[in-house]
Amino acid sequence: MSAVLILHHHNQAQWPQLFGAVEQLSQPFDVIVCAPQPLVVVANAQAVMRLPVSDHDDPQAIARALLPHCQRHQQVLMAADPYGRELLPLLASMLDRPMVSEVTAIAGQQWQRPAWAGAIEQQFDGAGIECCLSVRASGFAATACRGDGSALPEQLLAAPAATALVRQVQPLASARPPLATASTVIAVGRGVATAEQWQLVEALADKLGAAIGGTRPVIDAGALPSELQIGQTGQLIAPQRYIGLGISGATQHMAGIKQAETVIAVNQDGAAPLMQLADFALVGDLQQILPELMEIL
Ligand SMILES: Cc1cc2nc3c(=O)[nH]c(=O)nc-3n(C[C@H](O)[C@H](O)[C@H](O)COP(=O)(O)OP(=O)(O)OC[C@H]3O[C@@H](n4cnc5c(N)ncnc54)[C@H](O)[C@@H]3O)c2cc1C
Repeated sequence: MSAVLILHHHNQAQWPQLFGAVEQLSQPFDVIVCAPQPLVVVANAQAVMRLPVSDHDDPQAIARALLPHCQRHQQVLMAADPYGRELLPLLASMLDRPMVSEVTAIAGQQWQRPAWAGAIEQQFDGAGIECCLSVRASGFAATACRGDGSALPEQLLAAPAATALVRQVQPLASARPPLATASTVIAVGRGVATAEQWQLVEALADKLGAAIGGTRPVIDAGALPSELQIGQTGQLIAPQRYIGLGISGATQHMAGIKQAETVIAVNQDGAAPLMQLADFALVGDLQQILPELMEIL
């Protein structure tokens, strides 16, 4: 039995957690890094390879290039991020294997994932099953990797260049920390309504060194780009501090913050679900509270 972990140069900040996840399978594993440039990878793996890719590559072509390497392994792991969500289902269909998505805990061949927007935890017994797993990096502890990191990974044959479809996937360029890995996240809901309030939210984020994310209505309104949506159909975050401003706490939003360590919420409605769940809940109007917070901090 063996596994292969497929990484991408865009999720490098999460590699330690992804190594932690694959090690939980308690079996030998290979690592394939999809990256445009040669790069050093230190992992407790039996083999480390690099597939040369560019951001213009067709995901189908990347999946085809990865296929022969995945066929050799019982389990194929990727992060449950935009790349994994696109590539892994393609690989699963090419391999004709089932896929278990958004896995949050692994103990050998016993796996766990949230279902029904996080209302229940599903347990899987994967013993003897060939399948693909997408894992939420934030659910796993970073592993310590051995090795001096002096050797470059073996280079695999590149995927053929796209002929018909050219797409470019660029990670959001921002001076703020990435939403997925930030230690403090300010989440903005429909309760943040005025331009003046948005300015204060941004000033607060600057003061706290926080990432900013939002609820789906905020994204739908175009106030933030879609990459910054938090929740079931957005990003799943695990910050040390989550600060929810003017957010009711719908199940679909809560599904994305289950792994936040400390939840702070501000809402004029003390009975809102997020206020009930919060470690610190401040009842009040953001119009008044945001300037006060800026003064105190
Ligand atoms: C299939 C599906 C998937 C979805 N996926 C997601 C997802 O991934 N992420 C997500 O977030 N949502 C998702 N949603 C939407 C979700 O159901 C909720 O509609 C959404 O989360 C509500 O966003 P909100 O809290 O910003 O808005 P609201 O529910 O309208 O809450 C606004 C809150 O602001 C408070 N407020 C208003 N004014 C002030 C003020 N001046 N001061 C203080 N508080 C104030 C109100 O009391 C209220 O509690 C999904 C829905 C569906 C159907």
